[in-house]
Amino acid sequence: MEKKFKHFETEVIHTGYEAKDHLGSLSIPLFQTSTFTFETAEQGENRFAGREEGFIYSRLGNPTVRALEERIAALEGAEDGIAFGSGMAAVSAVLFSLVKAGDHIICSQGLYGCTFGLLELLKEKFNVTYDFSPMENEQQIKQLIKPETVCIYVETPINPTMRMIDLEMVSRAAKEHRISVVVDNTFSSPYLQQPLILGCDIVLHSATKYICGHGDVVAGLAAGKKEFIRRLAMTTLKDIGGIISPFDAWLLLRGLKTLPVRMDRHTENAKKLYEKLKEHRAVENVYYPGDPSHRDYNIMQKQMKGGGGLISFEIKGTKKDAQRLLNSLHLVKIAVSLGDAETLIQHPATMTHAVIPETQRLEMGITDQMLRLSVGLEAWEDIWEDLQQGLDSI
Ligand SMILES: *Cc1c(COP(=O)(O)O)cnc(C)c1O
Repeated sequence: MEKKFKHFETEVIHTGYEAKDHLGSLSIPLFQTSTFTFETAEQGENRFAGREEGFIYSRLGNPTVRALEERIAALEGAEDGIAFGSGMAAVSAVLFSLVKAGDHIICSQGLYGCTFGLLELLKEKFNVTYDFSPMENEQQIKQLIKPETVCIYVETPINPTMRMIDLEMVSRAAKEHRISVVVDNTFSSPYLQQPLILGCDIVLHSATKYICGHGDVVAGLAAGKKEFIRRLAMTTLKDIGGIISPFDAWLLLRGLKTLPVRMDRHTENAKKLYEKLKEHRAVENVYYPGDPSHRDYNIMQKQMKGGGGLISFEIKGTKKDAQRLLNSLHLVKIAVSLGDAETLIQHPATMTHAVIPETQRLEMGITDQMLRLSVGLEAWEDIWEDLQQGLDSI
């Protein structure tokens, strides 16, 4: 995308839409249509042949969806963007596009549960193998590279341990071997972290989270080089078919307008809360990327604009105590997902990471005492009051 505006805060509101092209409508019109009519048979022929620009059928493109795609491209500093019906549709479309049978992937130590499930599926069906790496330095990554390695797949900050990976370092390690670096940027949103600017090749999102921000849409986004995005559009999106609905695209465009404002508030609230949590006698450890005593704080400072709205912490106690704490909360809701206006809390060991065998889960640092908090937009004092009464009861 050609950059039209200098500032992110302006792009989230304006990029990809011109009111004058739509009868002056301030809000982007919702093109809730499955198909587009041709004026003549020849026009239909020309559109299919690619000789004439224009829409054909909503699985191949829709104006409301297109506005969202152009906007995410601008926000990630990408040549182009593409939207999907879920974050996993984005992850699977990108991976299916990059790998063929027998290829190899290097992954960050800690992946979204269903992404891990997808890698297992690729292994079982197509003999695509993968290795985990802590990715603490180039050497650690390079020693895993084989001739059939095609992709390095990274999440940072890692869910729910909040360890971080230096994306510039990963890109350097990959460049020499012409391996694509894919980053799941869901936890940061493009407001806090822009992986393509740091040299990575493809960025993707569960737009369900911060990009939507209001807990009412499941959707995915990806952005990267024009040629790669075009390939996704014409293969793994068009032919596998995980498209977004125009209405969901419209809701995401609406949510995006407030992304910078929301992220600032999420971050401010999280800062207050991690400090309070650290002081509480029932809390053992607190993991927050914006905490100067976090072991990867230097990476956060290098590549993120702020610590974001997610905090993990371990209580002093047992799994039962962790569950008792959840059950004692009133304002804070027990739910997976994140990035919403409402503060959400979940127990990774029995929820998001329950599928991981216990020894492997503990190796990843996900204990029975760990809780993950998605800090919402409420007054931080109210969130703390609720957490504190829960912690006091342990
Ligand atoms: C939620 C999530 C996904 C999956 O996204 P869906 O929209 O639920 O399909 C992928 N990666 C991360 C980091 C997530 O948090």
